[in-house]
Amino acid sequence: MNRPRLSAATIAAQAGGAVDMASGGVVPPIPMSTTYLRDEAYAPVNPANIYARDHSDITRTTETVLAQLEGAEAALLFPSGMAAIAALFRALPPGAAIVLQSQIYWGTTRWVRAHAARHSHPLTEVEASEPAALTAAIAAAKPALVFIETPSNPWLRTVDIAAAAIASHAAGAILAVDATAATPVLMRPLDHGADVVMHSATKGINGHSDVLAGVLATRDDASALWLAIREDRQTAGAILGPFEAWLLLRGIRTLPLRVERSSRSALTIAEWLAADPRVADVFYPGLPAHPGHDVASRQMQGGYGCLLSFLVQGDREAALAVVGRLQLFHRATSLGGVESLVEHRHTIEPHTGIPPNLIRVSVGIEDPADLIADLDQALS
Ligand code: PLP
Repeated sequence: MNRPRLSAATIAAQAGGAVDMASGGVVPPIPMSTTYLRDEAYAPVNPANIYARDHSDITRTTETVLAQLEGAEAALLFPSGMAAIAALFRALPPGAAIVLQSQIYWGTTRWVRAHAARHSHPLTEVEASEPAALTAAIAAAKPALVFIETPSNPWLRTVDIAAAAIASHAAGAILAVDATAATPVLMRPLDHGADVVMHSATKGINGHSDVLAGVLATRDDASALWLAIREDRQTAGAILGPFEAWLLLRGIRTLPLRVERSSRSALTIAEWLAADPRVADVFYPGLPAHPGHDVASRQMQGGYGCLLSFLVQGDREAALAVVGRLQLFHRATSLGGVESLVEHRHTIEPHTGIPPNLIRVSVGIEDPADLIADLDQALS
């Protein structure tokens, strides 16, 4: 029987159909074994499993569900988002050129700069939300890899994935997209021509601020790059533990519901902030005035995500005072959890051009009226 393609809500809620066939349980078990039996003839009892660095039923299950959500041929899990990014860049041939979007998650920029310098990868950083600048940078650098992040953290800039894919492929480059702020529910970069999609699964995919994880997914699991990434994960050992893979799968079950709620609330909050004279500017792709609104509306569906930033009137002290007065938003880094978070990025990265009066917010699934009331009293 040919089954219809299932929607993200169904794939996620049913964890791709994973159950525990051994016990009859409706959720899969957590296989904690690090090594697997061989029989008297020394053949593996289960040929799928030999050693836990590369063989784990729960990791495979979670990867399969993520690949289905992404529309990917395959997905690989890593013990953090940065481990996934590092695995991607480490798979490049020595000396291969890289084009990297500027003003993205600072941890990515910092690591890629250091890695490129150590391994003689010529590195071009470009404001990729400007399509002409991105196309020119790619044509000039002739890179092996173009890496973009959309919507970007913390500026919420939007990159046109389809245009970036055309420019990358014309130069013979692979296009990789960090889609952490969107999650596969709101945006599937492979559908728009990207070759690899990356997420910090620590964020919305897990959604409960209790698992560190990263994922790469590919449109072509036979490509040289993907084979190199897979081999590197197995031999270098950057593998997610079974408990984390199980928790991730549990988080994924409610991903579409959480994303729908937090995106709707984020838009409501962004609109409220945009109308408030105590706020100098709001960065959120869901606002029609945002320069990336049209592109975001084309390549995202069902919302614009939980992440937004805004500028308060005044200086660093004014922003820190607002952050300090918030009572419902936890003052903590990260994003995509069920609880709302607030961050003063300038304190974290004072030398990267983040305005001192910028406040970044990750909207959770609380009642948006309560969150707005909290922002209102904090801005007073
Ligand atoms: N990419 C983005 C957009 C992020 O926001 C982060 C973390 O904040 C990462 C990658 C790195 O992920 P992790 O913290 O899971 O290593």
